[in-house]
Amino acid sequence: MDKKLISVVVPCYNEEEVLPLFYDEIVRVSGGMTSEHPELEFEFLFVNDGSKDGTLKTLRQLSERDERVRYVSFSRNFGKEAALFAGLENAEGDYVVTLDADLQHPPRLIPQMYDYVSSGEYDCAATRRISRKGEPALLSFFSRMFYKIINKISQTQIIDGAQDFRFMTRQMVDAILAMPECNRFSKGIFSWVGFETKYIEVENTERAAGKTTWSFWKLFKYSLEGIMAFSTAPMALSLLFGILLLAAALVLLIVTVVKACTDTVGTLLAVSLLITLVGGLQLFCGGITGMYLSKIYLEIKNRPKYLVRETEKTYKNKGD
Ligand code: UDP
Ligand code: MG
Repeated sequence: MDKKLISVVVPCYNEEEVLPLFYDEIVRVSGGMTSEHPELEFEFLFVNDGSKDGTLKTLRQLSERDERVRYVSFSRNFGKEAALFAGLENAEGDYVVTLDADLQHPPRLIPQMYDYVSSGEYDCAATRRISRKGEPALLSFFSRMFYKIINKISQTQIIDGAQDFRFMTRQMVDAILAMPECNRFSKGIFSWVGFETKYIEVENTERAAGKTTWSFWKLFKYSLEGIMAFSTAPMALSLLFGILLLAAALVLLIVTVVKACTDTVGTLLAVSLLITLVGGLQLFCGGITGMYLSKIYLEIKNRPKYLVRETEKTYKNKGD
């Protein structure tokens, strides 16, 4: 019988509290799947993103107990995007499913996702939350704005509410891995590579244990990252500003020269106002360009996206 391997990729940052719950649940779900489809095999690939708690210890224990458990442990915290990338890069499966450790992405949906993808009709099955229940109103408002703006100014459409809970074919994973950028915005990357995606609509689920590390500020920075990774419109906007202002300045120059002959105090006011306005706008536009420039700088340095300190293989070899 032709075996098919499913890699379950889980980024973990300070998840010691929830990991045992997650493990029990994934074992239960995968057990159900292998008894229904005996050709299926599983590997559980955890990426420890520089956790400061006992996450690594828990992963070591799990890998000793269950040989399907693999892990990649980073030398420090590189962020969820890097952790996801490392997971995809190290997964060996014919299918790869990515999901959060905190059970906000319920593993019980995996069989349904497998059915969609294995039918051949879809290359990917992903969840999409239809409600933002339990989320602060301000955050919901800014999230909605973000999707509106990015979908207006970028060629790549980003689905509102689409989550990083995805079941993908090897072909799609390889396509994602072929995108070499360091500033990774997965939501954009998933949609940029295309392929047929089935969205399963879900309600928002609360974390099973532990707490989120995404503050409002972190989310805000992440959304800017997304806009800049998938659209150059802000840069074009600053050019447009520049042209408009140049034209306005020319008109104002003529008006000011004429007025200066009659009223000195008024002129001083007008000039200082003008200087502030133009100066401010110039800095604004320069800032936008600078932000893109800094991204280019980071890309050009081409640093590794993550560094590994330990894997289950190096850990087990040490023990032998
Ligand atoms: N995560 C990570 N690195 C980080 C932050 C988070 O690998 O720097 C992982 C985390 O362990 C979890 C997933 O990313 O499995 C989602 O994080 P979290 O639940 O904190 O975010 P939220 O669900 O609130 O968006
Ligand atoms: Mg979460």
